[in-house]
Amino acid sequence: MQLSDKYKKKIQRRTPGGRSIVAYKHIKHSPHECAICKKELHGKPSGRISKISRLSKSQRTVERPFGGMLCSKCTRIVISLRAQLKHDVIGKSDIPISLKRYM
Ligand SMILES: [Zn+2]
Repeated sequence: MQLSDKYKKKIQRRTPGGRSIVAYKHIKHSPHECAICKKELHGKPSGRISKISRLSKSQRTVERPFGGMLCSKCTRIVISLRAQLKHDVIGKSDIPISLKRYM
């Protein structure tokens, strides 16, 4: 199977017979993490693209607002702040800078 250079690492090896060969090793994928608190996200598989693309869409992501992007804890905070902002309970200046992009 042909691999894209992005997902493989070239390794120079010497065989017991004395020949030099080039082997390819898959680069390990890191798990997906929350955009705010960097906690590991559940429900989002990590691994080779070819394997993930064979899954159904619901198995690939989390189907809720900010699913697959923010963890459940951060989603609660963002949705709560959005509602408070909408009903003028808080002002725009009361929102932390790290959360402003999700408002
Ligand atoms: Zn989070």
